[in-house]
Amino acid sequence: MAGLPFASRGPEATPPPEAPSTTPKDRLHMLKTAAALGRLGTETAFDVLARAGALSASGRDIINLGIGQPDFPTPDHIVEAAVKALRDGHHGYTPAAGIPALRESVAAYLARQYAVEVDPGRILIVPGGKVTMWFAILMFGEPGAEILYPDPGFPIYHSVIAYSGATPVAVPLLEENGFALDPDDVLSRLTERTRLMILNSPANPTGGAVDKAIVDRLVTGLADHPQVAILSDEIYSRMLYDGRRHTSLLTYPELADRLIMLDGWSKTYAMTGWRMGFGVWPDALVGQAERLAINSHSCVNAAAQHAGIAALEGPQDAAAAMVAAFDERRRVIVDGLNRLPGIRCVEPHGAFYAFPNIEGTGRDACAMQDWLLEELGVAAISGTSFGRHGEGYLRFSYANSRENIERALDRIATAL
Ligand code: PLP
Repeated sequence: MAGLPFASRGPEATPPPEAPSTTPKDRLHMLKTAAALGRLGTETAFDVLARAGALSASGRDIINLGIGQPDFPTPDHIVEAAVKALRDGHHGYTPAAGIPALRESVAAYLARQYAVEVDPGRILIVPGGKVTMWFAILMFGEPGAEILYPDPGFPIYHSVIAYSGATPVAVPLLEENGFALDPDDVLSRLTERTRLMILNSPANPTGGAVDKAIVDRLVTGLADHPQVAILSDEIYSRMLYDGRRHTSLLTYPELADRLIMLDGWSKTYAMTGWRMGFGVWPDALVGQAERLAINSHSCVNAAAQHAGIAALEGPQDAAAAMVAAFDERRRVIVDGLNRLPGIRCVEPHGAFYAFPNIEGTGRDACAMQDWLLEELGVAAISGTSFGRHGEGYLRFSYANSRENIERALDRIATAL
């Protein structure tokens, strides 16, 4: 009988023992995944978005000031360009670095914005701004290396630095400086192990923005640290208020051989779901970045790339109208927050976030996030989601209607 399959044995045969039931967590322990996976962080805004969605689905009236995306539709002429591209048969792979017409269009855009000449060969089109960040950090991060990042800052910086095995070195951004970075403080944190420094202006989550004098000072100091590369996240470059102008790191020719500039379409053109971003890379790294693209996503969605050309080359009035609307809401939310007991909010200069100090309410940031969502139906993000220095703060996105912002402020005022 040996060797016969179990089903052909007699009825007296004992059945095989039942497989022990496993939870997904047990299963993870049984599989030998890479240790680095345990160091990967996340972006709480997506968790809050999911929870807010579940509460809405259960019939609750939720006001979402959590996720950072424009509440406007993508302008029509951009959508039409994508539809046309599909109808014209742009269904296949494109060159990994992006279609040449789009890379040239980005170069022309940068020339218009900043009066700089960038070779289109240094521009890599990627599926969203995040991908430039992912590539840049993985290119420099490994055990023994140090990477500077802003805290509070976009959570993916810390997450990917830790994932790479490098040591994340926080650069605290302080309320008393309007959350702008202090160039001397940044320079004092550079060591011979520093490989990369991440800058973000205008900033998520604080709305802070640096002016040219600060950038000048930083760039001067960087001359003494030629081994340090810079990742400048300029995804909110078009969202500045009160007549402020963006200072792009691209305008410093002395950095050209070590600057990676990150920007994209998501915020400026209300295209977060299209997944369209670009990076400007130093000559020496652009080939490696393209290789990472070939190894991961191959190329960006072809129709989206055609839409990207229409966005840059077409009328800019819809993008400007969005910024004007954000500016108006910024005043409403900052005034409203400053009127709440125990809360004070510095004026954000850019992006579409307010980052009030809530220490006077007696609640910590996580408790406040949960209380706002579960009890008041207002989604906001705990400052601790953006780093240790975010304790005592909450992030509100004002990419929502004025009416909803006012309703949220009323709910909080009544409850406090
Ligand atoms: N950089 C910052 C500072 C951001 O806030 C975001 C998105 O919220 C990104 C990059 C990523 O943008 P994208 O959606 O284009 O990947």
